[in-house]
Amino acid sequence: MREISLPSGETVRVLGIGTWGMGENPDNARQETAAIHMALDVGMSVVDTAEMYGNGAAEELVGRALAARRNETFLITKVLPHHATLRGTIDACEGSLRRLGTDSIDLYLLHWRGVVPLAETLEAFEHLQRAGKIRYWGVSNLDVADMEELLRLPGGRNVATDQVLYNLTRRGIEFDLLPRCVERGIPVTAYSPLEQGRMLNDPVLVRIATEHGVSPAQIALAWVLRQPLVLAIPKASSPQHVQECHRALDVRLAPQDLADLDRAHPSPTHKRVLEML
Ligand code: NDP
Repeated sequence: MREISLPSGETVRVLGIGTWGMGENPDNARQETAAIHMALDVGMSVVDTAEMYGNGAAEELVGRALAARRNETFLITKVLPHHATLRGTIDACEGSLRRLGTDSIDLYLLHWRGVVPLAETLEAFEHLQRAGKIRYWGVSNLDVADMEELLRLPGGRNVATDQVLYNLTRRGIEFDLLPRCVERGIPVTAYSPLEQGRMLNDPVLVRIATEHGVSPAQIALAWVLRQPLVLAIPKASSPQHVQECHRALDVRLAPQDLADLDRAHPSPTHKRVLEML
């Protein structure tokens, strides 16, 4: 699978799996676990979760699913903004490590910006890095001004990703955030790349999918992944959906497809405030 470089030089695969909503219903646990295992089987090694999801239930499910496969995974989790003080981040990280059943998180993100100064959260991230509890740190839902502020802080340039909402119907970041991240070599992680399923009936998407003999979800993912420094973390909670997402990597969108999608969902021509879900 194609890989992109983190600012450290380490590479990660461009397609992973999200877990928001997993772990909340015991009846679904077997299928969700199978989905995570399938993701690893097909090389979608980035697994994204957060302390927020199901109040820790998603991390617990991920922890159980990865028990014997932690070393195949690039594991991302997130600290809530109201935990993101120096002490609070360290404590939150300990909680995540315990639920995930691991000694170290690959990438630890600030879930979105709250009232705690970015410098304080960054200090906590650096402390956790020195202690070997996290390998990299990053942010989520930060728009251009917040990213600029972060990059001006000592050590701020070590930010490994900005995880943001990006899909065919949410193209705001193309105006400024995405080009600026690309300029600086900061990978963007696209969350909700399928718009949580809401875009899958889009007539243009459906037509292009039919022409390619694939599903609308595959076209939607191939579209997100056409960007060189973007990785995508669709949430797929069955092995079938995971396999289908994986096959999006084989889809080659033609210039005419891209033009048709642009016409239906134009790229922004002015600044739009970063949307979040
Ligand atoms: P997605 O855009 O990934 O959509 C998920 C939905 O798409 C689910 O209903 C899923 O169904 C469905 N789906 C998955 N694969 C297919 C397929 N092949 N065909 C048809 N439908 C499919 O939404 P999310 O909001 O979950 O975003 C993905 C991940 O991003 C989250 O799980 C989370 O890890 C992260 N995230 C981060 C945020 C942040 O603030 N940092 C905010 C939002 C998300 P099913 O479950 O039945 O497979």
